[in-house]
Amino acid sequence: MSVRSTTTTSGRASAPRPPYPFEAPASEALFARARAVTPGGVNSPVRAFRAVGGAPRFMTRGFGPYLYDADGREYVDLVCSWGPMLLGHAHPEVLDAVQAAAAAGFSFGTPTENEVRLAETIVARVERGGVRPVEEVRLVSSGTEATMSAIRLARGFTGRPVVVKFAGHYHGHVDALLASAGSGVATFALPDTPGVTGASAADTMVLPYNDLDAVAAAFAGHGDRIACLITEAAAGNMGVVPPDPGFTASLREITSAHGALLIADEVMTGFRVSRAGWFGIEGVVPDLFTFGKVMGGGFPAAAFGGRADVMDRLAPAGPVYQAGTLSGNPVATAAGLATLEAATDDVYAHLDAAARTIAAEVSRALSKEGVPHVVQFAGTMFSVFFTQDPAVTAVRDYQAARAQHTGAFRAFFHAMLAQGVYLPPSPFEAWFVSSSHDDAALGRVVAALPEAARAAAQAGRMPA
Ligand code: PLP
Repeated sequence: MSVRSTTTTSGRASAPRPPYPFEAPASEALFARARAVTPGGVNSPVRAFRAVGGAPRFMTRGFGPYLYDADGREYVDLVCSWGPMLLGHAHPEVLDAVQAAAAAGFSFGTPTENEVRLAETIVARVERGGVRPVEEVRLVSSGTEATMSAIRLARGFTGRPVVVKFAGHYHGHVDALLASAGSGVATFALPDTPGVTGASAADTMVLPYNDLDAVAAAFAGHGDRIACLITEAAAGNMGVVPPDPGFTASLREITSAHGALLIADEVMTGFRVSRAGWFGIEGVVPDLFTFGKVMGGGFPAAAFGGRADVMDRLAPAGPVYQAGTLSGNPVATAAGLATLEAATDDVYAHLDAAARTIAAEVSRALSKEGVPHVVQFAGTMFSVFFTQDPAVTAVRDYQAARAQHTGAFRAFFHAMLAQGVYLPPSPFEAWFVSSSHDDAALGRVVAALPEAARAAAQAGRMPA
């Protein structure tokens, strides 16, 4: 893919200039109204711009790689709804499928053929070298529901209580999985948030990521009580931190040796980092997978699936209860199916080229201004760490991810926003591209970088 360093003749180059953050009166007014009736003014915390300051932009529409806010500004979108919009906004084939499905009725509370087709598509796509580890699939409505149900199933299947997770991995707001950092090796977690009881966190063990010794020690000490180990297939919720080579394979060996299940959380990576998700890249076979985001094409659809003998423990086939009024919703399944059908090898090649172009250009701009940073990839997913220590060349765990210069990121973020580029409003998030990110959109990103890098350099000279 080639990228022009200037923008097209459409007039999109006339981006606003500092001071940052620029005014956004319509968004600010909406945010004030929202705060009066919604906690913090948002329906999911990171949307609130707390990590970067200023009013979140209230978007009114999206088209291709662009978002449009209530003040009428256009942005190149590098968030893509936190991952789902693999094909860009309002993709014509997905739109047609959604309109046709909606015209036929919104929800029946009965089985439908599209649920079968979506499950068949997932089973067929998660394939590598002839191995298809997803034998059965249950559709749900959110990634949180998928991981919650998968760990219930693992506990029901093994008859054991303990769940092992890694610090910095996010699996949705499931009580048992919100327990996070701060715990030492093989230490049972304390609740990280009010509302999660000690009892629900007591059976969660939090270990440092990419630390096999910690995993081995935890299983040596508690193996017969561990139901499952859940891991983001490649971490994307502390910035992008892929597993070290061989790490996932070792997780497979250790869990198998102790009769515990391995759950690969592919809610973020599934059908995004490759056509078969992270499994398609690494090929380690877990017992269960969780999926979400891309498989719903921007609608609430998610899933968990895996070994038939485990999945068959789910009601009504087995005793582990799990249900949902809107599970397999016809409009959501139509969007998911149309998205996966359109997500061809060409789409993944384009995503890869676009992600690599942006990452290389960001790195070039930051290097030019002497801003310490590390860029990391997991397939087509990437993020930029604003490291404080120029000697750091890789981020392998949550502790390293947290040692970022948040002030430098904040300045970079606002300078990009002011020039019409919408980045994730937190230094702990992956950046996402879509197949609609064409040369014009990438050119806009590239054109905004020098100024943003200068802003980051200036902020980087202040304490983090
Ligand atoms: N698992 C992972 C890896 C995620 O990234 C997320 C959300 O970002 C979830 C689970 C939760 O998904 P949802 O927000 O759909 O509940």
